[in-house]
Amino acid sequence: MALISYMSRVQFDFGALRLLPEELALLGVKRPLLVTDPGVRAAGLVDRALAALDSARPPIFEETPSNPTEAAAEAALALYREHHCDGVVALGGGSTIDLAKAVALLATHPGSLGDYAVRGGGSARIREIAPVLAIPTTAGTGAEVGRAATLTLKNGRKIACVSFKLIPKTAICDPELTLSLPPPMTAATGMDALSHGIESYLSTWENPPAAAIALDCVERAGHWIERAVTHGNDREARWQMLMAALEGGLTFQKSLGAVHAAGHPLGALGYHHGTLNAILLPPVLRFNAPAVPEKIARLKAALGLAPTEDLADWIERLTARIGLPIRLGALGLDAALIPELAEEASHEHLSETNPRPATAADYRRILEAAF
Ligand SMILES: [Zn+2]
Repeated sequence: MALISYMSRVQFDFGALRLLPEELALLGVKRPLLVTDPGVRAAGLVDRALAALDSARPPIFEETPSNPTEAAAEAALALYREHHCDGVVALGGGSTIDLAKAVALLATHPGSLGDYAVRGGGSARIREIAPVLAIPTTAGTGAEVGRAATLTLKNGRKIACVSFKLIPKTAICDPELTLSLPPPMTAATGMDALSHGIESYLSTWENPPAAAIALDCVERAGHWIERAVTHGNDREARWQMLMAALEGGLTFQKSLGAVHAAGHPLGALGYHHGTLNAILLPPVLRFNAPAVPEKIARLKAALGLAPTEDLADWIERLTARIGLPIRLGALGLDAALIPELAEEASHEHLSETNPRPATAADYRRILEAAF
């Protein structure tokens, strides 16, 4: 049984960004650090956030790397301390929100990030962090309501910090901010949202409210992702995909499975998280299907598939249609790395809640099928 806990405050609609000043005031934050990245700045979204803040001009850390690092978290923390900040506003995708969580953690905790990694018992050491207000600019990770932050340490090790304390106190979800997201990013982040719904629904942990949210996430993402990719200005599609992403994040407390377990070591090589999930979903579903036939049937119903259709095949065709690669080989992965990646995947904490126990040998077969 998973712990059932919903405590995020979410402002969700077109134009919600204008609520930023009052939401910061409700959190008691007077001097926020704005964490963002160069792409978000280039898309004009930093200017929009600053316009919402009116006269206040917060210090800005905009060097968030595409996969967040301990070095970036420490650089942002230095800025936070220099300006005596009392909270963090994350404006960006999952990397930016994860980095903001890490900064807020380090601002109130001794030691370094590695001390708080979930592997090694770090979750128990996480107390109250500085308040985080998350404003997602992609529709995918659900990090705005998620309890995990994934970062690469200075020694190259990729870690996850996992705690309910890491959930942003407030999320402002404004679909307007996702209208300018280019098709490849819309596709990759959207497949991440879909994978969250599917994986959390299939996970071994019982949490009926989260399972219901997961099915709704799958239905929305499956129905709207193609439209959001091909018609980026379709406001309805953008609203639905941002809601699917939020719902995917709300289901994390039911945990995930082998797609994310196999995706993490691959992500450490620099490949996009959502693209990896899209590629890994079909072989993982083929591996899991015999263990959870009723749940697979429910997922197919949510997606509007006929009972005779194969879910894995459907996802593979969808992935190709929205312009993403469907094989790891197409990403340039060296096949010789597969045994090592499989071994790492089998030790990931998310592997423990996969509906069918997966050994290193199983991951090897999954990765070979995905190659
Ligand atoms: Zn994910």
